Amino acid sequence: MPNVKNWQLGRDMSYPYDEEHPKWQFAFVFNTNRCIGCQTCTMACRSTWTFSKGQEMMWWNNVESKPYGGYPLNWDARLLGMLEAANPHGQVWNDKGKFEGMTIFEAAKARAKGPGGQEALGYLPSDDDWRSPNTWEDTPTGGSFKKKDQYGGSAQLPEHSVWFFHLARICNHCTYPGCLASCPRKAIYKRDEDGIVLIDQKRCRGYRKCVEGCPYKKAYYRPTTRTSEKCVGCFPRVEGKDKNISPTGQPAETRCMSACVGKIRLQGLVEVGEDGTWAKAPENPMAFLVRERQVALPLYPQFGTEPNGFYIPPRWVPRNYLVQMFGPGVESALEQYSCPDRELLAVLQLFRASRQIIFQFKIEKGPKVAEVEVTLPSGKSATQQIFNDTVLGYNKAGEEVVRITIEEPTFERDDSHVNSI
Ligand code: SF4
Ligand code: SF4
Repeated sequence: MPNVKNWQLGRDMSYPYDEEHPKWQFAFVFNTNRCIGCQTCTMACRSTWTFSKGQEMMWWNNVESKPYGGYPLNWDARLLGMLEAANPHGQVWNDKGKFEGMTIFEAAKARAKGPGGQEALGYLPSDDDWRSPNTWEDTPTGGSFKKKDQYGGSAQLPEHSVWFFHLARICNHCTYPGCLASCPRKAIYKRDEDGIVLIDQKRCRGYRKCVEGCPYKKAYYRPTTRTSEKCVGCFPRVEGKDKNISPTGQPAETRCMSACVGKIRLQGLVEVGEDGTWAKAPENPMAFLVRERQVALPLYPQFGTEPNGFYIPPRWVPRNYLVQMFGPGVESALEQYSCPDRELLAVLQLFRASRQIIFQFKIEKGPKVAEVEVTLPSGKSATQQIFNDTVLGYNKAGEEVVRITIEEPTFERDDSHVNSI
């Protein structure tokens, strides 16, 4: 197997194909602290792409309540268990942030006995696993429910003793997709123009190897066509085909992003160099959050697919759980998110501020409006200074699409409407 660079692991890893990278990469950041589990994103996707016969169990976008929820049932716990069993030295990160365990590709290679084996460690969920998309919704864990000590002081930061959180998921349009690696028909490809991963319906023969090999379980089998299907990244919108959103044909966010009620989502396109690293572009909000500040982290980076979906972790959840899910950057991400500086606070305003993809932001400085004392997750105290800055967002053509201030402007309702809504 060739060796490829994986920046999320801090090392090279084996992958069945040589390294090859798109010019631009579809990427997104979800802020789990803001998700209310309303499933508007889920239904926006459903009503666009998966409303037909044979697609009943296809939820290209789903929102599950962690720690118990998952679609298909227990997808992550099951694969983590398989990786643990395959890897006698444990799934560990060293203190320099390098992953020392085995990825799904390395574990499959270690297990294979000659040609024809699995390319990526995985399993095929049963029909029962696919049946219920939102089992364990809003179900918490932890704490003591004794009368005297109701909920065990559940609302104390930095970690709540009773907790759950909503994890919104779509295909991560991975740099090294497990689905693509597993397909014996070479029916899966990654587009050069935006890194979106697609299944060629003419080549697919429905062997379901992608369903088995995607560690995130985001490839689905359709019995009516006997082929597999997956999230297509709303590519016509990303190509700028929706003239209602941009009359000049600029890239637009996907349906699930555009519909998000909690304003937890920001989508981006980042320029990729030939060696696979993201071009240094601190003025691109996606690059700023993921690479410059590392306040948004990949989901289960240890799987090794280099997912391009990133999450700001939930502040109140036990850290060992979060480190297992998002890797070793959790403490630093939460420390920054709990007391955002001027620039970070400005970029956080861009979530769901425009349906067009924002390629660049600028900040116009405003006056200081507040000072707030904050206790950081580490226990240290800090003073957050809040400025009424204006953040501007620009589309691919450099046209201004967002202008938003930190302080929301107030409007006084006309006396004639004082009691009306
Ligand atoms: S999340 Fe799964 S389906 Fe999507 S690109 Fe990665 S491996 Fe393929
Ligand atoms: S629409 Fe947004 S807030 Fe609602 S469930 Fe989806 S990601 Fe969460």
